[in-house]
Amino acid sequence: MGNVREVRIARRTGFCYGVREAIDRAKEAAAAGKTTHTLGQVVHNEGVISALQAQGIQTVESLDDVNEGAAVVIRAHGVRPEVLARAESRGLEVIDGTCTWVIQEQREIKRCVEEGYSIVLLGTPRHPEVVGLLGFAPDAIVVDEEEDWEKIPKRKKMALLSQSTQPPWKFEKLAAFMVGRCHELKIVNTVCPVTIRRQEDTIEAARGVDLMVVVGGRSSANTKELTRLCGIVGTRAIQIESEEDLQDAAVFARAEIVGVTGGTSTPIEDLRCVALRVLQLAGTPEVSARAEELANEALAAAATPAGRTTSLPTISGAA
Ligand code: SF4
Repeated sequence: MGNVREVRIARRTGFCYGVREAIDRAKEAAAAGKTTHTLGQVVHNEGVISALQAQGIQTVESLDDVNEGAAVVIRAHGVRPEVLARAESRGLEVIDGTCTWVIQEQREIKRCVEEGYSIVLLGTPRHPEVVGLLGFAPDAIVVDEEEDWEKIPKRKKMALLSQSTQPPWKFEKLAAFMVGRCHELKIVNTVCPVTIRRQEDTIEAARGVDLMVVVGGRSSANTKELTRLCGIVGTRAIQIESEEDLQDAAVFARAEIVGVTGGTSTPIEDLRCVALRVLQLAGTPEVSARAEELANEALAAAATPAGRTTSLPTISGAA
């Protein structure tokens, strides 16, 4: 038992629309009786992957693992164009779940190459979205942290783009840095609006609570950024992958109101599970006794129709 009397889930959390679409397309294919695979994990969340497996959807790391005639879903991150071509030449049914925003990024980077710009891409070098983008701009220079930036050469014409989930502040800072690197600079702001809204809503939630719990993959850049932003507004934050990481009530010792937020690959149902765990583990006796009811209320308050991002048909009472 503890002092927590309320848990709030940040607005507009849950899957982003790109992830949700890719998952839904895989589910639809399997429901239609197709042998369905996803090329790479459709989302880095073991619970979601297990649920898809239970519906007969297998994750494969290579097209060689897919039999002719079977369906292969391209996840939201997209792929290099030659991967799509190879899948088609092998007689696979390609279900392209590339996020529409990523498709737009791919078009923009291709256009910049055609216009003769040297490309700088702000992103994590091995991230699948970046790997896919490099298929359209093989000579692009990928930079991430500030210490990388000095390696950007000086060129006459340069174009700057970003992986969708990079923090906007970093993109702006790099744009300013690049002014000194070239004569002509084209800036194409490809930071995804979902990422920006998620960060805004997390900041808003963090301002009204004593402690934030950020839920997402340990290596997820957008999750780490949410944790960092909570710190910037002066609210202590802990980052976890699931409610199972919450074992010690001492973490919540001085907290009365706790906020919960999650990365774009974290299902909103996971946030409800985390809210429930916090209420049970660290709630006041009265709150702990009503933990289920309060966790459902927190979920319902967050997942308003405008902000709903779950891929499930209903959210109430989600397990
Ligand atoms: S974060 Fe944005 S760009 Fe990336 S998959 Fe989600 S909606 Fe698409």
